[in-house]
Formats: sequence, structure tokens, C-alpha cells
Amino acid sequence: MKKNLFGAAMLLASFSAFAAEHHAHWGYNGETGPENWAKLTPEFGACAGKNQTPVNLTGFIKADLKPLKFNYKTGGSQILNNGHTVQVVYDAGSNVVIDGVEYGLKQFHFHAPSENLIQGESYPLEGHFVHADKDGNLAVVTVMFKEGHENTALKNLWAHMPAKEGDKIALSPAFNAQTLFPNNHAYYRFSGSLTTPPCTEGVRWIVLKKPAFVSKAQIDAFKKVMGQDNNRPVQAINAREILE
Ligand SMILES: [Zn+2]
Repeated sequence: MKKNLFGAAMLLASFSAFAAEHHAHWGYNGETGPENWAKLTPEFGACAGKNQTPVNLTGFIKADLKPLKFNYKTGGSQILNNGHTVQVVYDAGSNVVIDGVEYGLKQFHFHAPSENLIQGESYPLEGHFVHADKDGNLAVVTVMFKEGHENTALKNLWAHMPAKEGDKIALSPAFNAQTLFPNNHAYYRFSGSLTTPPCTEGVRWIVLKKPAFVSKAQIDAFKKVMGQDNNRPVQAINAREILE
């Protein structure tokens, strides 16, 4: 019981930190960079936790992972630049079912280079599809992008890339996130955190094994808008297992 109360308090603290995010400046370099996130404000304390993301996915444990069931509709209605990433806001009505629980797609965004590594391999781009169930539990589905041919779905999005921090652009017609996924949905799974402050833990991470593709020009276009790499370095795996 005590543990549950503590958990609830932590969750509340995380939510207030989320609201206070605009007051505590953080970034990817120097004094406000990842090494110092936990020290910037007490609300970012979880960034020094033992179950943080990203990780190097390796040492897989065979598990009976059920196929993911995506019920995605066209719903990406706005693309924005928040200074940390380029994000597409998603309308209600799309979800993925994990362990029989529906997690609604809220938004997706990108990191370059990738945050997670697969068996030590970094990818030039990683997409995070952020979902929440009705109780606010989070599940992030990750798609790695390997450099190769031009990605038609990304081309569509990048055409509306908001160049400056704070810019928001409406997507009309709306965008279907499923078009960014590879055909094969086999995945790795582990328990982790948000990869940005407040680094809240208890997030279900689903990393698709097969990458999608992105062209060099598309990677460069994203990097140009970001102006810097926006990946947190890999964190210690500690007691966690990576299931496959
Ligand atoms: Zn992310």
C-alpha cells in the first residue's frame, strides 16, 4: 500500500513537472544537457532513475510476445516544432492493443540520430509513436529509419516541416501514421521512461525490429530544422530484460 501511495505521488510529481516544463529550460548540450537533467530541477529527478530510456537493445530474452494490433485511422492533424523535436499531434480514435489494453495514439515525433540502439547499431532517424491508455499509462512504439531510398510518407510530412521553434502548421488532409511503419511488426519490448525531462518511468517500450527507410536528403532536412542532434545518450539497462 505504502508503495502504491509513493507511486501515486511520483506520478503526480511527474504531471506537475510536465506543466512546469516551460519554466525549466533543458537541451541536448552543455549545462542543460542530458548529463545534468536530473539536477536542473527536483521535478526532473527521475532522469537519474534506474529504468531510463534510451537503451542499447541486446541480450534478448525469448518471450511469447503477442502480435501488435494497430487500429490506426487518418488523424495527424497538426505538425509543430517545439524546439526539441518535430511532432505531429494526433486526433482521438486511433490505438494499438497491448496485452488486451487499448493505448490511444496521442502524437508522434522524431529523433536524429536514433536514441535507442539495436545490438549497438545507431540509426539516422527514430520515430516515437506515443500512446496512452485510459488511465494515462504510456506506451511508445518506435520505428527506426535506415538510410536508403526516399520515404514517400515522410516526404508528405516534411513538406510541412515547421522551420522555427513554436511554429505550428495544420495538416490538411490529415496524415495516417501507419504509412510510416514497415510491413513487418515483429518487435522488442522493455520497460523504460520518457527520453526527455521529466523522464517519467513506467513507460512500455515497443521497438519494431525492421527499419523503415529515409533518404540522406530527408535526414538532412530534419537536422537542419533542429539545428543539433536531439538524441539522449543510451542509459544503463540495470535489472531490466529486453524481450523478443
Ligand atoms: Zn521521443
